[in-house]
Amino acid sequence: MTASLLTSLARFGEALAARRWLIFVVTGIGFIATIIVSRCGLIDQYVELVAMYVGINIILALSLNLVNGYMGEFSVGHAGFMAVGAYGASILSVKVFSSGVWVFPLAVACGGVLAALAAVVVAIPSFKTRGDYLAIVTLSFNMIVKSVLENIDYVGGPRGFLGMQKLTTLPWTFAWTVVSVWAIRNFVYSNIGRGVLSIREDEIAGAAMGVDTRKVKLHAFVVSSFFAGVAGGLYAHLLQFISPRTFDIIKSTEILIMVYLGGVGSIAGSIAGAVIYTVLIEALRFLGQWRMVIMPLLLVLLMIYRPKGIFGLMEFRWFKPITTKKHHDKIPVSATASSNKSPERDVELLVIDGLTHYFGGLCALSDFNLRLGAGGIMGIIGPNGSGKTTLFNLISGYYRPSQGSIVFDSNEITRLRPNEINALGVARTFQNIRLFNNLSVADNVRVGMFNSVNYNAADAMLRTRRFNECEGRDVDDCVRELLSLFELERYGQDMAATLPYGLKRRLEIVRALATRPQLLLLDEPAAGMNPAETGALMELVQRVRDEFKLTIMVIEHHMSFIMGLCERIAVLDFGVAIAAGSPDEIKNDKKVIEAYLGSSGLKNYRAQRGT
Ligand code: ADP
Ligand code: MG
Repeated sequence: MTASLLTSLARFGEALAARRWLIFVVTGIGFIATIIVSRCGLIDQYVELVAMYVGINIILALSLNLVNGYMGEFSVGHAGFMAVGAYGASILSVKVFSSGVWVFPLAVACGGVLAALAAVVVAIPSFKTRGDYLAIVTLSFNMIVKSVLENIDYVGGPRGFLGMQKLTTLPWTFAWTVVSVWAIRNFVYSNIGRGVLSIREDEIAGAAMGVDTRKVKLHAFVVSSFFAGVAGGLYAHLLQFISPRTFDIIKSTEILIMVYLGGVGSIAGSIAGAVIYTVLIEALRFLGQWRMVIMPLLLVLLMIYRPKGIFGLMEFRWFKPITTKKHHDKIPVSATASSNKSPERDVELLVIDGLTHYFGGLCALSDFNLRLGAGGIMGIIGPNGSGKTTLFNLISGYYRPSQGSIVFDSNEITRLRPNEINALGVARTFQNIRLFNNLSVADNVRVGMFNSVNYNAADAMLRTRRFNECEGRDVDDCVRELLSLFELERYGQDMAATLPYGLKRRLEIVRALATRPQLLLLDEPAAGMNPAETGALMELVQRVRDEFKLTIMVIEHHMSFIMGLCERIAVLDFGVAIAAGSPDEIKNDKKVIEAYLGSSGLKNYRAQRGT
């Protein structure tokens, strides 16, 4: 019985997913139904009240999920934003306009805007803090809001705020819930949403792929808080009484429970979490205060047995975007994916002067100089710990150098942030592969296109024409072509984590190419590969150079790889450049052989060669 019911539900879901317009029809019917039901008193008032709580809680859970689930931050003071929305909307409807039904949607929206403004203040410390620290920042925010409200007599201080009309009705709750689900879903499945996910997966890799992490965090906080504020406005006009205590840490915890119960990073999960929590809390009323013990206990059990919530990262198909199958006019991907503005050969693309970097007392790189023309492949070799990765980290903006300067394509990039450097045309891969493991292969590449889209968050949330054109044509086509060019197309929908090792390395290169670089930095791309895989990789790197007209710098220990590919090689030892030149020059350089083999090794080498 239950199984067949679930199957029918799943079929219904599939049908909805296949015909998007059906969603509009179903929502429209739902809205009309809520009007009829509440006007004609078809359901019990208590049931109607619980239904409204469910709607408000769905909005709250979704909005918190955006920050905690999708972005992977840990915000614990969400009730603070709800309070700002609730008080803001109530001041408008009671004090400014002194009621009036027509003013209600405007008041709720204004409450949301005020909460969004508060979010800007909270987002700024979040640029620097993560995890526990962000939890403390948001918790403090929640407490500050509560204390401030307690001290404002205009809104009743600790006694609370009265006088709101009961303007929150079932149809209004339904409408706001649908709008919230729709807007947050659209936000998540967009360029900026992929930026949000990349922060959760690997913030460093995200920034290296051009994601402006500050902008993305600010957007996510603002959108999340707007909807928390909306929920606050609805709540205030349902209860008709709010006090600072309504929005204390317990309220914040309730929202956290809903998110983690349903599933982090899933819209369906947030909806399920909110429904289950609200209904259970009502059903367990007979337990009195004990129900407040049962729910957290349930959460603890869930965290032990299903730490990502009931739904985990799973999503219902109808919340996901439709994947277009149509191909548009083929643009050669080398033209779309690589930069058109690569300068002529002999023009210096990268100029490094006196680059020095210390880690405490350790000089990881000392007075490194380089003039690199456009085109060609340059190898960087040296024993372990000689400063090769540090050099890449400095060029790509991950570290600020202690001394020296880096000029790329006539731009001083020494003090720029990684995403700014990427936007200028420097892309990289990492020594320890840093893919976005819980994103699909195609989405990994899409993140690489962060700076190639020309629509903003509002376009994404409203699904404007600009959004549809850019996502459908520029992004999807380019991703498809890049994947097929590197024979990854059939893995497009697979999670990056499930790829075999060799393909992970390849995907990392493809993701870097999606950022349209002029200079590609490859950090030990053949590490851990067998000879056949190394051979295939060599071909791939050559193809990338030829078809994408890139300049490549590659760190490698496989000598056959370096000697076979590079026109020029620089050798580092203990942070100092000990040699530079053609493969032949490097092979016979005394200092290089000594660095690799030690001075006794050098003697043996000479004895063998009779020199
Ligand atoms: P390579 O890539 O040539 O193997 P690295 O550039 O990773 O070498 O490291 C150069 C030196 O800097 C090593 O001695 C290493 O221990 C040190 N080092 C690298 N990263 C850090 C860091 N984040 N903090 C402290 N020391 C570091
Ligand atoms: Mg290294």
